[in-house]
Amino acid sequence: MTTVKEAPFEGQCTCGSVRYHLTREPMFVHCCHCTWCQRETGSAFVINALIEAEHVVLDAGEPEVVVTPSASGKGQRINRCPECRVALWSTYAGAGEALRFIRVGTLAEPGRLPPDIHIYTSTKLPWVVLPSDTPSFAEYYDLKELWPQESLARRAALRAKRRG
Ligand SMILES: [Zn+2]
Ligand SMILES: [Zn+2]
Repeated sequence: MTTVKEAPFEGQCTCGSVRYHLTREPMFVHCCHCTWCQRETGSAFVINALIEAEHVVLDAGEPEVVVTPSASGKGQRINRCPECRVALWSTYAGAGEALRFIRVGTLAEPGRLPPDIHIYTSTKLPWVVLPSDTPSFAEYYDLKELWPQESLARRAALRAKRRG
């Protein structure tokens, strides 16, 4: 497995009905240890790659949106394969449809997108050992301090588009 962060990144659900690829490297990759993500995945954490919707191309199938409660109270829209129901990505009310949270585990080579940050580590499972070279936060964090300039510019462009 390589860690070359160069597009494309291919992904799919478990049954293969929905296939997609990313045409650009994500802006930032979250590893979220919150209890909501633990429950939704049935696992210790979720890995979400944040990327503009325009850089996510569907190659087969059409995900079905399932509105799911979220910590904010506004809900998240989880895009699932209509056949096997595997979650491929989410969108949130706060950021809107233009920003997708891609579930990195659905990529063919998830090792290419290691987390840029670990968040909500206050509820991290005790046996998960975090790498010392990756920032971690007990709760959320300040994007402006952690995101690379290029990613902040991409986010600003998204927000400008949303307002316009
Ligand atoms: Zn499927
Ligand atoms: Zn979470």
